[in-house]
Amino acid sequence: TETTETFEFQVEARQLLHLMIHSIYSNKDVFLRELISNASDALDKIRLAALRDSSLDADISDLHIDIEADKSARTLTVRDNGIGMSRDEVVALIGTIANSGTAQFLKELKEAEDASAAEGLIGQFGVGFYASFMVADEVTLVTRRAGESQGTRWASTGEGTYTVDTVDDAPQGTAVTLHLKPEDTEDRLYDYAEPWKIREIVKRYSDFITWPVRMAPEPRTDAGADGSGGEGTEGAENTDAAPPAPETLNSMKALWARSRDEVTDEEYHELYKHISHDWQDPLETIRLQAEGTFEYQALLFLPSHAPHDLFNQGYKRGVQLYVKRVFIMEDCDALMPSYLRFVKGVVDAQDLSLNVSREMLQQDRQIQLMNRRLAKKVLATVKDLRTKAPERYATFWREFGAVVKEGLIGDYENRDALLEVSSFATTHDEEAPTTLRQYVERMPEGQEHIFYLTGESRQALENSPHMETFRAKGIEVLLLTDPVDEVWVDSVPAYDGKQLRSVAKGEVDLGTEEEKQEAEKERKQHQEQFAGLLTWMSEHLKENVKEVRLSSRLTVSPACLVSDTHDVTPALESMYRAMGQ
Ligand code: ADP
Ligand code: MG
Repeated sequence: TETTETFEFQVEARQLLHLMIHSIYSNKDVFLRELISNASDALDKIRLAALRDSSLDADISDLHIDIEADKSARTLTVRDNGIGMSRDEVVALIGTIANSGTAQFLKELKEAEDASAAEGLIGQFGVGFYASFMVADEVTLVTRRAGESQGTRWASTGEGTYTVDTVDDAPQGTAVTLHLKPEDTEDRLYDYAEPWKIREIVKRYSDFITWPVRMAPEPRTDAGADGSGGEGTEGAENTDAAPPAPETLNSMKALWARSRDEVTDEEYHELYKHISHDWQDPLETIRLQAEGTFEYQALLFLPSHAPHDLFNQGYKRGVQLYVKRVFIMEDCDALMPSYLRFVKGVVDAQDLSLNVSREMLQQDRQIQLMNRRLAKKVLATVKDLRTKAPERYATFWREFGAVVKEGLIGDYENRDALLEVSSFATTHDEEAPTTLRQYVERMPEGQEHIFYLTGESRQALENSPHMETFRAKGIEVLLLTDPVDEVWVDSVPAYDGKQLRSVAKGEVDLGTEEEKQEAEKERKQHQEQFAGLLTWMSEHLKENVKEVRLSSRLTVSPACLVSDTHDVTPALESMYRAMGQ
């Protein structure tokens, strides 16, 4: 028709599709999980939209997902009666890749050495809707946004271009039809038109979805199916006098409301993947049931890897909020402190209004209490990991330590807990970071402070002249290289009664009383001996430095620059400068 428009896929989208089409990724089943996940999101959205705006022209009386397989036509359709998409949304959401994680995925893909490395990457990054092209050689999507009168049809073979049409009679919601690739006669495992296969995949990946996932019964259910072919099956369900009722494939049980022993780890992991859009299993699952006057259930997850945009301005933090099993909002930031913004999960509260807004939540005292309780629970879990699963703790800290340390700046209430779960690179061990507790336990007699040095990289710090005496005397120094380290060290005065001291600031006094007296005597002698030189240098450098003094901290280098105890460090100075301050 005249309304047909042909578009080219954005370059990144094209690359991704090419990969999907030629994929030998072994776990193709996940395409269905992605489609059901999108349908479920669309149903959540329409229920919420109808709740917020009673004038919205939307039917929310029987929200559900339908799966229709047609063996003879080799098509599989996943249909929802959810929020749908406008024509512009279809072009924006389906034709391009806005997700920064996907951009990162493609970058890593280019660097991947061989096909199997590429396959591994598919498993690590979600590719959402495009996963359909692993099993289909053509995909059509018909959608109508709730409240709009016209619908849109999108179609593509995944190669270069897609078409968009306007359609007049589309029902509310979205139907995605996959034209399945020719049957692999060798391997019936991949026959996605088989009802048993569909049942199995839904049960495995989407059982917890809170909306019914239904499948219409096969047109002919009589035993001894004789391969009666294609003719007659089309529209059979409409012409039958009494079509058998569709079968609901998922149990729809809210995992967070069930007791621990009723739920398998796999089920938790699938829920995690649905809400986080991550394709990898979480590192840890955290359950919390709060009883009493303000009752709620929480199911939280620590991801196994940091998302690529964790430090971006607009990073959407927070967990999903449900009220009595009804999905209310994504990324509920009021429920998690910013330094735990990577935590994913669900919080289901009993006594909140379905109409709560983000602003109301920020003000709500109960929500603030929940936020604190959840933060404590997460920190306690990390602490447990550290003692009981050191490897998983190490992964956690490698991925999220730089974020968690932000908490040391503002969260006084949890400071001790934060210090307990933190670890730091150290001169004591090149490979393994240390906790402050371990550092303190190693402190020799006479050492009063916890020493650290901040800077850009371990190597730069190790080459710093400030390190010389410490190295010579065998005194352990923490090597802090995250930008946030520059800041928190100033707001944490001490740990376990030991002050944190930068080796680059002020005077450092090391050693026992005797050694100190000895050193002092020596310093006085040197002071007299070099008085002339020091005066001369001070004169010549007075534009640049406050003072020139003899140092006992150097063993190899002739000179080094030190700042006053209260000065900002050079790295912090350049950070402020970068921020335009
Ligand atoms: P993601 O779900 O991670 O955002 P997808 O590739 O799965 O990525 O989907 C891209 C976007 O397309 C979704 O965010 C959503 O806005 C839109 N979309 C996909 N499927 C549907 C659907 N069934 N109903 C409404 N919108 C959809
Ligand atoms: Mg998706």
